[in-house]
This record gives sequence, structure tokens and C-alpha cells, in this order.
Amino acid sequence: MSKLIDLTDRKFGRLKALKRVENRGKRVYWLCECDCGTTKEIQGAHLKNGMISSCGCLNRELIIARNLKHGEGKDGHITREYRAWLHMKGRCTIPTDKAYSWYGGRGIGVYDQWKENFRSFLNDMGRCPKGYTLQRMNNDGDYEPSNCLWSPPEDQVKNKRFHNRHTGETGYFHNTPISGYEDILSAI
Ligand SMILES: [Zn+2]
Repeated sequence: MSKLIDLTDRKFGRLKALKRVENRGKRVYWLCECDCGTTKEIQGAHLKNGMISSCGCLNRELIIARNLKHGEGKDGHITREYRAWLHMKGRCTIPTDKAYSWYGGRGIGVYDQWKENFRSFLNDMGRCPKGYTLQRMNNDGDYEPSNCLWSPPEDQVKNKRFHNRHTGETGYFHNTPISGYEDILSAI
């Protein structure tokens, strides 16, 4: 029998090998934990040669990012928390995001630990109740633990800062959604 390399605790992209599990045929498998919190059994050879570097979330993020750019994009397999995290990062850090001008463009940032680590975000925020969305209490403040909560969508809409690009007027809007913004709220 060939010598086995112990991969325990080694990191492969987003995946960390936790422990070896039962072989599938002659193939060696490892239970891995992904940065997004998912655990999955992955073939050791695929970890080592770099063929697999996430639980699948990396590909899903790329697909969502592409879809968002085109103003579509819903994926029922992604949790509310994960989706909220992706959108938060998108509107604060990706200039091509259609909501960027209201967030990153206004200097709204994301708490460093949250930016890089979904699990840190999830630990601080907890699970998102159904129908709720991520909201900041201070609308000019960053996305950070002390300024965020899950709230019903109608509260979130009320608190959005409204900026009229034509008049330069700034204020709060109530009832009328900003055009082009609905799909972002519903996709969160
Ligand atoms: Zn993952």
C-alpha cells in the first residue's frame, strides 16, 4: 500500500481538510470544511492538484456575480445569509454593482473580518429570519456588527437613503421603491 500523506488541517483554497473518511474504491477521500461553513467529502487527489478549491460556493459566487451584472439572478440553493453577505460585499466593494453608488460610492464599507469570511459574518449576525433582510441602523455607517440587524423588508426600504441623480437632492424615501432597486432587495 502506498504511503498516505496526512492532509489533516491543511488548507486548499477555501477548503480545510478535517479528517480522512472512507475510501471510495481505491480513491482516498477527506472530509473538508469550506470557508462558507459547508462540509463536504472531497477526493484527496483533487485537493492536492488544485482541481477542487471550494465546496462549490466559489462557482456559485461567480455565477451570481455575472447574473447580478445583468440585473437577473436568483439561486434558490443559496441561503439567505450567504446571499445577503454576497450582496453586501457587492454593493460596497464592486464598482460595477448597480447599487454601488448608494453604498461603496458613498464610502460605506464592510467590517474587515466580514469581508473575507462568511462564517465571521454568520457568527456575528446569526441566521436571517425568513422574509428579513440585512439592515444598517445608521444609514451612513458601515456594515459592521454594531450597526447591522436583520429586519423586515419594508423597514429596510424606508430607511434607504434616497439620492436623486437629476436634482442632487438627498433625503429618505418612503413607499416608492427606487427604480431598478427592487430586484436587488428581492434577491437578497
Ligand atoms: Zn463553500
